[in-house]
Amino acid sequence: MSTPTVTIPSSLLPADGRFGCGPSKVRPEAVAALAAAAPDLLGTSHRQPTVRNLVGRLRSGVSELFGLPEGWEVVLGNGGSTVFWDAATFGLIERRSLHLSFGEFSSKFAQAAAAAPFLDDPAVISAPTGTHPTVTADPTVDLYALTHNETSTGVAMTLQRPAGATAGQLVAVDATSAAGGLRWSPAEVDVYYFAPQKCLASDGGLFIACCSPAAVQRIERIAASDRWIPASIDLKIALDNSKLDQTNNTPALATVFLAVHQLDWMNANGGLEWAASRCDRSADTIYRWAEASDYASPYVADPAQRSHVVATIDLDERIDATTVSKVLRANGVVDTESYRKLGRNQLRIALFPAIDPEDVAALCACVDHVVGAIA
Ligand SMILES: *Cc1c(COP(=O)(O)O)cnc(C)c1O
Repeated sequence: MSTPTVTIPSSLLPADGRFGCGPSKVRPEAVAALAAAAPDLLGTSHRQPTVRNLVGRLRSGVSELFGLPEGWEVVLGNGGSTVFWDAATFGLIERRSLHLSFGEFSSKFAQAAAAAPFLDDPAVISAPTGTHPTVTADPTVDLYALTHNETSTGVAMTLQRPAGATAGQLVAVDATSAAGGLRWSPAEVDVYYFAPQKCLASDGGLFIACCSPAAVQRIERIAASDRWIPASIDLKIALDNSKLDQTNNTPALATVFLAVHQLDWMNANGGLEWAASRCDRSADTIYRWAEASDYASPYVADPAQRSHVVATIDLDERIDATTVSKVLRANGVVDTESYRKLGRNQLRIALFPAIDPEDVAALCACVDHVVGAIA
């Protein structure tokens, strides 16, 4: 079936048409600042002060945004969140982990742990897609693996230490699409890890892991044991380099720069509360629009589990969501397609802090226009 030709009136179009869930919108101001800074930055050594200062600003900007308590460390390394799962499998799980599995991303860390021959089989608590399971304390595990926002389904969970969890058990949270857009408390978490191509409005390829003193101790203890750990994913090596504002091997300098720019922007405007409030506004707009629509509805049934950083909107079977996304794309409004493996007639829209809430409202009007034209 060919895509119908529909021209969306320019008065309806968002100022910026990027709604992808990662890589996601990079603010034009950040790109312009990168171009201005480039002559003294790009193509210079990552062991010299210019780049080390930038890495230091990334670490302190993350600390400030999340209000990390004394003793926490911001650990950086190459490879993004996917590589962090391998690093954590080697360097953070002592014997056995417990995973909440409720979509594509949350299932992957569980798979990595299950495949490791030096670990016991992990405990996995699953829930149907579109919901999240609840975590209960399990005395046989030493790490709980949670996901703040399941990007494939648009389900977010409130971060809480499992009731009855003991002091020796760590809570590690995949916050890749949540970090900087959803609220959380360091009291409930030991490792909050993410990559910068989502709420930090930068490019991919880096992992950033906020580690509590208990997590730092765990990293040190496992590194001192006789477990073999490949150097490129050794968290102790990453930790030691991060303390010196370096990475073990060469990072992408543009990625670091853009992430720092976004952190500065968020911190200067009021920090995490400000950024999360912006996401709340976008979420309120899109879910209200879907609930009022006669052809669209929020996929996540429980409003408390509906993500404020990634909205998933089901369309009535009369309207083909793929066609709607294609028409939007032809008009410069891109990456509204649903997560392919979820297999639903759905639009998936990022509501990250860089995305203007006014543009989310404009997107809703554009979808109405397209559906009116093709139905
Ligand atoms: C995007 C995403 C990942 C993968 O991140 P990479 O940096 O591409 O490895 C992992 N977990 C979640 C929740 C994500 O949204």
